[in-house]
Amino acid sequence: MKSVLETINGGAQYLEKRGVEESRRNMEHLLAHRLGCTRMQLYTQFDRPLDETELAPLRDMLKKRGEGIPLQHLLGDVPFHSRDFICDSRGLIPRPETEELVEMILKTIPSGTLDILDMGCGSGVLGLTLAAERQESHVTLADVSTDALALTGENAAKLGVENISLIHSNLFQSVTGKFDLIAANLPYVPAGEAATMARELQHDPALALFSGADGMDLLQKFIPESVNFLKPGGVVALEIGHDQASQVRECLEKSGFAPIEIHRDLSGIARFPFATHL
Ligand code: GLN
Repeated sequence: MKSVLETINGGAQYLEKRGVEESRRNMEHLLAHRLGCTRMQLYTQFDRPLDETELAPLRDMLKKRGEGIPLQHLLGDVPFHSRDFICDSRGLIPRPETEELVEMILKTIPSGTLDILDMGCGSGVLGLTLAAERQESHVTLADVSTDALALTGENAAKLGVENISLIHSNLFQSVTGKFDLIAANLPYVPAGEAATMARELQHDPALALFSGADGMDLLQKFIPESVNFLKPGGVVALEIGHDQASQVRECLEKSGFAPIEIHRDLSGIARFPFATHL
């Protein structure tokens, strides 16, 4: 028999030896998940003894975490902007930057009935959060991956979000209609970075990350095409790579967007272009 505290300490050490960052936090999440409680509730039962039936499945999760399977995949869900989303290898694990993007969009868009498109929706975190926060609007979520769309559908059902449509589409190929807002967190990582990425990132779908030699392939295609799917005065709101702001600005200018503002993320990186098309 081991106590909760001993289990946490032992597990954290195990993970640390295997190169897992924030090993204790990871271990606490795994144990809380196993026991069906919150991380904070673990702190109130440090002395509680754990029997073998409680520990055995935990060992399996620990082994996988030690091998680099992401925590979010083992837990099966991930918090995003105050809601829990199902998370597995069909979609990108949401990044904190994308929560910032959602915040900025919610602050900027007018209230009322809007037609919104989430291009490259992945697990659906961006578009479904907008749909849940703006129930009077309609959100179309599009992705080239049928796996990702299935995950989005499951997340929509989990959240009880109904003001949406899902479209299987390679960028705009199967999209019809015009939108007030097109939001997109498209793949923007240069293909060459695959070899040096953290183990955990190898479990994200490659299709959701990489976009040609400089990471710009899809953005370069998306931006000029988006013009045909915006209502007059419509806005695109994007997340882009840390060194892509000037290239993206140039592309937006060439496509007739004005004004163009590129907001910084919490690290000070020009990350979120918001551009209007009149
Ligand atoms: N921010 C992600 C990363 O660097 C990339 C997300 C994306 O390509 N849209 O891992």
